[in-house]
Amino acid sequence: MLISPESAIRHTQESDIRLEGKVAIVTGCARDRGIGRAIAMRLASEGADILAADYCRSIPEYPDAKFGQMAELEGVASEIRKLGRRSIAVKVDVTDEAEVATMADAAMKEFGRVDILCNNAGGGVGGGPAIQQTLDSWNRTVGINLTGAFLCAKHVAPKIIAGGRGGRIINTASIAGKRGSPMMAAYSAAKHGLIGLTRSLALELGAFKITVNAVCPGFVETQLLEGLINMIGSTRNLNREQVLETFVRQVPMGRIETGEDVANVVAFLASEDGGYMTGQALNICGGVEVH
Ligand code: NAD
Repeated sequence: MLISPESAIRHTQESDIRLEGKVAIVTGCARDRGIGRAIAMRLASEGADILAADYCRSIPEYPDAKFGQMAELEGVASEIRKLGRRSIAVKVDVTDEAEVATMADAAMKEFGRVDILCNNAGGGVGGGPAIQQTLDSWNRTVGINLTGAFLCAKHVAPKIIAGGRGGRIINTASIAGKRGSPMMAAYSAAKHGLIGLTRSLALELGAFKITVNAVCPGFVETQLLEGLINMIGSTRNLNREQVLETFVRQVPMGRIETGEDVANVVAFLASEDGGYMTGQALNICGGVEVH
């Protein structure tokens, strides 16, 4: 069937608003250039109301590990409200089951439903050569990247199921979940585990029309990547630009990734358009990883 230019334009405009009436929880979305912030803003721009969640504290034993704070998180929620959507900022440690349960309840209390869970909180503490890593930094890194996603799914999926409308769980993994990563063994192992969790949950939750997928970014220019740049720079005696250059050389698409590159695919997965895709771990990395 031929469509007139007018109806084509109308279709384009409608297709930009694919999440009207939906409610999304996005974890780890406080930081300025972060992937989580880009995801939260994109889902909101497509019509979703957003519970914006982040750690909002520091760990004194790991002063180098940087986390999103409450003022930044409130800023994200306020930006979302300026788009005409509802949004609340919730302090949560995704590795703490009681806090995660409280977050899930807060979403129901504020919005009355949940449709989409984006398990985006991640990162690492400690790091360095695996055989020198402390058990504490190993456990914390696995906790942030893997156990946190399990706990959020455990407490949020029942709310999605109760709605009876189906829904989405979208986990932010990494290309480090598809290959070994020297100096980041705990992070890489946790992201591999997150892909395993994604595949398993997809099989369990399909019966409730909940799709579960992972996105695997590559080199995204966020504050988290700055930590990696510093680590590589100091071990190889390179400055920031030189380290960035070594990253870009590995990217067939020839540039560093942005949070929006990831958010574009998350928005697709969250929408009806992505409704028949589940159990997948999608590389969004400009071609750095291809399997
Ligand atoms: P980021 O530091 O901006 O985001 C990570 C967020 O997770 C932070 O806001 C942090 O406060 C939060 N967080 C950490 N521990 C938490 C906890 N226990 N409870 C709640 N929140 C917690 O960095 P980013 O690069 O935007 O990372 C977002 C996601 O993307 C992470 O899962 C990361 O592993 C993944 N990723 C990043 C890259 C990259 O190159 N930047 C590449 C692949 C994957």
